[in-house]
Amino acid sequence: MRRRRKLVLRGSLIILLFLPLLALGHYFVFPEETRCVLIDISDFSKDNNLYFKAGVDINTLNIIRKYISDAEKRDSEFLGSLTCKPSFIYCNNEAEYAKYGNGSGSPACTHTKLGAYIVLSKDGLNTNIIAHEIIHAELYHRIGFFRYQFAIPVWFNEGLAMQTDYRADFSEDSLKKYSDSFRNLPSLRKLGTASQFYSGTNEKIILNFATSRYTIQNW
Ligand SMILES: [Zn+2]
Repeated sequence: MRRRRKLVLRGSLIILLFLPLLALGHYFVFPEETRCVLIDISDFSKDNNLYFKAGVDINTLNIIRKYISDAEKRDSEFLGSLTCKPSFIYCNNEAEYAKYGNGSGSPACTHTKLGAYIVLSKDGLNTNIIAHEIIHAELYHRIGFFRYQFAIPVWFNEGLAMQTDYRADFSEDSLKKYSDSFRNLPSLRKLGTASQFYSGTNEKIILNFATSRYTIQNW
């Protein structure tokens, strides 16, 4: 019994010693996501699940809350009741978004691994984009890390998120235009990974999103 207690104590000590190293390692590989996880000890203010910096005016906050509420309603009509309760981090300027969001040029992004954090830039403030990001968070929450990361192709994840994202750039009309009336659609088999899906010209990436959206819509 005493020996078992010793082993448990030793195991706990090893974990305690490794935790800071793991956290540091995570910060070096995923700095933006680590900052999101630590948002409660940052200088962001919090109201329910919305984080923002002091100085963001009340009108902007009310508009963000309205967009989030409309997006949640739209998504729950599409998927049934939502199971994930993401935190939303609003970044008031580009420098802030670079610290918490991502460098891909997208107006919003979702971190999922260590809790769901949806990071919004100023350009991400609309119902379409927020509804899109909520679907990513919801999919992860429902299927878990391994299936989200390794079993679901990127085109499926994005195509699903596009079902409640009605931006005209990714509409059927847009797809028709970019694909020579559906004659030159990209092969979904070649859009399974992030590097395949998000690389290339702006036009090609729009085509990838619109094709994924169109495919899932027609299932
Ligand atoms: Zn997306």
